Amino acid sequence: MSQVPNSLTDFSQEQPDRPDRPVRDAMLKGWRRKCPNCGKGPLLKGFLKVQDECTVCHEELHHHRADDGPAYLTILIVGHIMMPALHIFFTHYRPEPLVLFTIFALGATLLSLYLLPRIKGAFIAYQWARGLHGFKTR
Ligand SMILES: [Zn+2]
Repeated sequence: MSQVPNSLTDFSQEQPDRPDRPVRDAMLKGWRRKCPNCGKGPLLKGFLKVQDECTVCHEELHHHRADDGPAYLTILIVGHIMMPALHIFFTHYRPEPLVLFTIFALGATLLSLYLLPRIKGAFIAYQWARGLHGFKTR
């Protein structure tokens, strides 16, 4: 009986840590929506579209596979901030329902719009620093 390699338990293919790509620095650059390599070129064009390559250092950025990860994290964070705030605000001030709805709908929307591109930048920078997906070729 031959042994079938299991990709879930076989760590021999795992990428080693790359000292030339510190994760924390890259994620901070990504949070600022800058290229994780040089920190100068814009990572995003428009609100959420990722540049194919950095306009300054020409690092290829199209390898990212952010998919729904940044949106998931944004919802998770905004939900965990807004729900306790809603509870505290409601129990202490008992505002009119329309006032409460307006404040929290606007707050959740604005907080999401603020966080989403920054989380996406940090997410892509993490993939870049760890050499995930196509970023490992160099
Ligand atoms: Zn760059």
